[in-house]
Amino acid sequence: MQQVRVRFAPSPTGFLHIGGLRTALYNYLFARKEKGTFILRIEDTDQSRIVPGAIENLIVSLHNLGLDFDEGPGKEGSFGPYIQSQRLNLYQKQAQILLEKGFAYPCFCSSETLTNMRKEQQEKGEFVKYDRRCLALSKAEIERKIAAGEKYVIRLKIPDNRKFSFFDLIRGEVEMDSSQSDDQVLLKSDGFPTYHLASVVDDHFMQISHIIRGEEWLSSTPKHIFLYECLGWEAPKWVHLPLILNPDRTKLSKRMNDVSVDNYLANGYLREAIVNFVALLGWHPADDRELFTLEELCDVFSLKRVNKANAIFDLAKLDWMNGHYLRSLPLEEIALRCKPLFLEKGYDISDPEKYHLSIAVARERCSLLNEIVDYCKMFYQPDTLTEEEEKILATPEAQKVLAWFVQKLPTITNWETEEIQNIINAGITALGIKGKAFYIPLRLALIGKMHGPELPSTFAIIGLEESLQRLKCYLLKNEE
Ligand code: GLU
Repeated sequence: MQQVRVRFAPSPTGFLHIGGLRTALYNYLFARKEKGTFILRIEDTDQSRIVPGAIENLIVSLHNLGLDFDEGPGKEGSFGPYIQSQRLNLYQKQAQILLEKGFAYPCFCSSETLTNMRKEQQEKGEFVKYDRRCLALSKAEIERKIAAGEKYVIRLKIPDNRKFSFFDLIRGEVEMDSSQSDDQVLLKSDGFPTYHLASVVDDHFMQISHIIRGEEWLSSTPKHIFLYECLGWEAPKWVHLPLILNPDRTKLSKRMNDVSVDNYLANGYLREAIVNFVALLGWHPADDRELFTLEELCDVFSLKRVNKANAIFDLAKLDWMNGHYLRSLPLEEIALRCKPLFLEKGYDISDPEKYHLSIAVARERCSLLNEIVDYCKMFYQPDTLTEEEEKILATPEAQKVLAWFVQKLPTITNWETEEIQNIINAGITALGIKGKAFYIPLRLALIGKMHGPELPSTFAIIGLEESLQRLKCYLLKNEE
């Protein structure tokens, strides 16, 4: 059995997005399931599109999601370097071999010439592709131009009217025609390869067994197959993953903020939920189970269960999953992840008991980490009251309620919900005030809102000292 070696091969043009994560995840899961190797390869041959810091960011994002690679930048295996701009000699050598074998040819056309050619083709209603004018150059002409220092690219000579058929592990037998294929540029005039040459050369020399990538690359596969053929290499197995669509079936938004994984993490989504959710964008288990940890996915994942049909990105489902993980992960873990968000808001979380109790209450009612912080504000910084609300607190009935608590709370020996509940019950009986007239003033004074969590736990979280302080704030002098 051939050893499984798969690669995630992003271009460092921005942040990791949902589509990229799905490709990375399926490669990772397949490698783990098959006890193979997961490789990160950086495809930076289009130097004009490189975003500074993108490589580091990709590596950090993959690590944060738990998708550590076995070979890649900074983890050199025997097949490195893993950044394409550091492998230029390798591509140049193969381009030379293709030239010598007659499968490729130099093209000296300037970008102006090409633009005019395309314009003419468009005007005539012809299919726009390179018209092969440089293929007619004689050996002597080529040599003269090169000697004169003319710039040139190397193009692949795609055979006319050829059918390329290949087996895709998800789609089955695929057949494509070469007639619509342009003579692909393989090597640019600056000595950099294009994606097509670089990825084929790397997949071969890195001994990649399966190419698992998005469906958008399907149309490039015939060119790649032809390159394998020309170079006399055996092609890896092909696996093209279905597209990811918005619920209205448009292509998943390309606006970076909408699809960047960092953005989801920054907005309070948990990595467990993101990974679980993305795993189901195209793959499904044998039963209708939906919740899986990364370890469980490594066990059950199989390419056989990846759909051909497009996957739909349903944000409501991600929210639901996030809520699930928010409640089911250990409380300490959620507390740890919320910490920077609380500190950013300036909340004093130096009392660990108060902090943990707040989170325990909040996570039952929220579906995002950020919502937890917003929810907990009442325990740390109560809202300021409106004039209307202050009027409610100034009524004699409300003042009686506040005074009762200011007097009775300090008598509690055990600051726990049960005893606090007893004081509440005793207050209702002693004052003869109940329902909204009792609870609304209490909540307003305590948390700055008319509605909130159970009163005993609210008191318990805020603590005796602070509860007294908050209530006293609204106790009018003559009532004290
Ligand atoms: N560099 C390509 C990308 O950015 C990789 C395509 C492939 O996996 O062959 O998606």
